[in-house]
Amino acid sequence: VQYLPQSIQKLIAELAKLPSIGNRSAERLAYYLINNPSLSLELAKSMHLAGEQVQHCKTCYFFSEQPQCPICSSEQRDSSLICIVEKPADLIAIEQAGIFKGKYHVLHGLWSPLKGQGTEEMKLDQLIKRAKAENTEEVIIATGATVEGEATALYIGQFLGEHQIKASRLAQGLPKGGDLEYLDDVTLSNALSGRTKI
Ligand SMILES: [Zn+2]
Repeated sequence: VQYLPQSIQKLIAELAKLPSIGNRSAERLAYYLINNPSLSLELAKSMHLAGEQVQHCKTCYFFSEQPQCPICSSEQRDSSLICIVEKPADLIAIEQAGIFKGKYHVLHGLWSPLKGQGTEEMKLDQLIKRAKAENTEEVIIATGATVEGEATALYIGQFLGEHQIKASRLAQGLPKGGDLEYLDDVTLSNALSGRTKI
């Protein structure tokens, strides 16, 4: 596509780096943006702002514009329960189901040695320290029912066990390969309330 202006080619190339956007979609989006300059400008501004202002909560690693997120700083939340999730979207899914009043620990990825994803990034030492400081009674491992989700749960379960922290796993019956983010509220709520000790 040499006949396309360089700036458009660059825009298409950048858009194509987004998850689930192929080249055809990237082209369509690029042309749409060029035809809607005010939307483009607002979009660019919000991306810049989000990139600048959003950090990870120092306690649970969820997105936050403050050092500590509103869930961690809330008096209404129960510190005796910590729910471990793979990613922010999973936390949002559980919050939207309205079934959990404890706190969270966001992994930002699963343990996957084959993909070079180690255990370091999961911040488990910090979790242990926090669980001890907050007198946490139970840590619920709410990773999805994928191979990596199960392997991660197993690893974390053992790790917590070595530190004498009680761990539980979401109930079986999650759809195989199930990503928490896409579960309906009822399934999610059953999985959480039917959790089993590990
Ligand atoms: Zn937090």
